[in-house]
Amino acid sequence: MKCDTPEISIVVPVYNEEEILPKLYDRVTATLEQMGRTYEFILVDDGSVDRSFEVLRTLRNKDKRVRVLQLARNFGQTAALYAGFHIVRGSIVITLDADLQNPPEEIPKLVEKLDEGYEVVSGWRMHRQDAFHRKMVSRILNVFIGRLTRTNLHDCGCSLKAYRREFIDRLILFEHRSRYLPADIGWLTRNIAEIPVNHEERRTGRTNYTLPVLIRTGFDLVTSITATPLQLIAFVGWLFSLIGFLMAVVIGAVFFVGGAPSEAVIIAALLFFFTGVQLAALGFICEYINRIYLEVQRKPYYIVKQELP
Ligand code: UDP
Ligand code: MG
Repeated sequence: MKCDTPEISIVVPVYNEEEILPKLYDRVTATLEQMGRTYEFILVDDGSVDRSFEVLRTLRNKDKRVRVLQLARNFGQTAALYAGFHIVRGSIVITLDADLQNPPEEIPKLVEKLDEGYEVVSGWRMHRQDAFHRKMVSRILNVFIGRLTRTNLHDCGCSLKAYRREFIDRLILFEHRSRYLPADIGWLTRNIAEIPVNHEERRTGRTNYTLPVLIRTGFDLVTSITATPLQLIAFVGWLFSLIGFLMAVVIGAVFFVGGAPSEAVIIAALLFFFTGVQLAALGFICEYINRIYLEVQRKPYYIVKQELP
């Protein structure tokens, strides 16, 4: 039984989700059994500090289709997914969140679409049940990321996705660290379908994406897909120099006709303005330097502590 290769691998990153895990197990199991396809259910404990790992151990003990990978500490959702991707055996790989915001009942729809010949099928959350600011930010990012990665997805950030195994095999070749999955997917293929899926409220625990984490993720995202901000800095620099030159001409002209613009005000405004622009530009450059710094360190993207026997 153990050597049997399952048809489907479900991969779920888990960070402090003790309460919801039994429900997640029940719903995934019910859905997959109904589909009548063989599967393995890989849960990656991303360094949870609650009882998640004990709950996962119990699930593994009662059902060997459950596989539990424990990371050495918290590495983040994407790293946990990649850890799971490295051990999948199925020819179809499905990802979803542990908190049941992505209903497992949607899995058959994704698989059906994938069977039409796509390499990736991505969920598109209808009636998204998240805080207003999250939805707004996502909406803006989707336009931006969709264009940049040329995937044109409406909902890049939806965790509920299905992949062909060959695609996952290519995805795990990536070695860079600031990974943003939709960007890597878009880089690898255009053969992506998007289908509407339900989205539910988080009923227990709370989102791991607090404002500081979101800002961090935002920088990761931008700097991992494009160098446009760096190029923009030069453009803004030239533009501002031109404005500065024109202003000097105007001030000169005012003087020439005998007027007296307040010098202190002019200088202060210019000083604030240009210092602000320079600092913002410097901030962006620092972000890229930070990326280089992370890459040259060559630290592992994640470390597996154990896979439960
Ligand atoms: N998660 C993780 N590591 C982290 C943060 C989150 O494995 O450091 C998991 C979490 O358990 C959940 C999924 O990633 O399964 C999505 O997290 P969350 O629900 O907090 O994000 P949101 O739905 O608010 O975007
Ligand atoms: Mg969630």
